[in-house]
Amino acid sequence: MRLVLASGNRGKLAEMRAILADTGIELVPQAELGIADAPETASTFIENALAKARHAARASGLPALADDSGLCVAALAGAPGLHSARYAGGHGDAQANIAKLLDALREVPADRRQAHFHCSIVLLRAADDPAPLLAEGRWPGTILHAPRGAQGFGYDPVFLPDDGGGRSAAELDAATKNRSSHRGQALARLHALLVRHA
Ligand code: IMP
Repeated sequence: MRLVLASGNRGKLAEMRAILADTGIELVPQAELGIADAPETASTFIENALAKARHAARASGLPALADDSGLCVAALAGAPGLHSARYAGGHGDAQANIAKLLDALREVPADRRQAHFHCSIVLLRAADDPAPLLAEGRWPGTILHAPRGAQGFGYDPVFLPDDGGGRSAAELDAATKNRSSHRGQALARLHALLVRHA
């Protein structure tokens, strides 16, 4: 099955391709089809994912997969949340986002730095699909005081997953991250739905 992926994020594309490798699904990034990003104007991850998938399905005529994800920090009332990609202003400027996050948490002690990544995934078989496949995942951890590691993307260097054996998300190899991450969990659930509804 050929699916258009409603994202231009190379990190996500690589993770999704790895996790869906055995499904026969071929993911085509929407940019390769000349499709621009949909505006993200909703107030929940799942609504944004639906809007992105619908936009890509309508523009391409193909089934579409979209995810919306972000980092929710308890001491910041859930921020950066939906605004994770552009927390510091420019879209996807990970270094600036991390600097802003560490600054916001400067006075917050280690035992109050809980956070989680959230991921909502939507698969629409067509733009007007009334019953999309929906899957979500949540990856709990804490925010470090300084970046560690060079793998992954986004906030990975400052995220210490509860199940990471003391390593930051950017110190985990891709396969290990994919087994437990928010996106890994959501894709595993989507994978199960695909098998059941195939
Ligand atoms: P989206 O493309 O609108 O879903 O924005 C997601 C943003 O959340 C990314 O640009 C990252 O800043 C952050 N994010 C989501 N998933 C991850 C992850 O697995 N590691 C690090 N940052 C992530």
